[in-house]
Amino acid sequence: MNYITIDKEKCKACYLCINECPKKLLKVSSDTNNLGDHIVEFDDPNHQCLACAMCAQRCPDMAITGVFKG
Ligand code: SF4
Ligand code: SF4
Repeated sequence: MNYITIDKEKCKACYLCINECPKKLLKVSSDTNNLGDHIVEFDDPNHQCLACAMCAQRCPDMAITGVFKG
């Protein structure tokens, strides 16, 4: 099962990654970073992640810290 990891405190809530994901697996979370901004979360109940890393490449803050193939 492919997945990504997101560093909550690095995420600046710009949401650029949301549109980048071809499978639309990133969404605004109810969780917040230390600035009070709603971070993004990875939501892939049907295991659709391609491990393509497009989300990580788009993130200007390197908040997507890992893309794993499994
Ligand atoms: S692109 Fe990076 S900083 Fe922006 S919302 Fe996504 S993970 Fe957070
Ligand atoms: S690795 Fe690709 S498919 Fe997986 S969440 Fe990121 S952009 Fe979406």
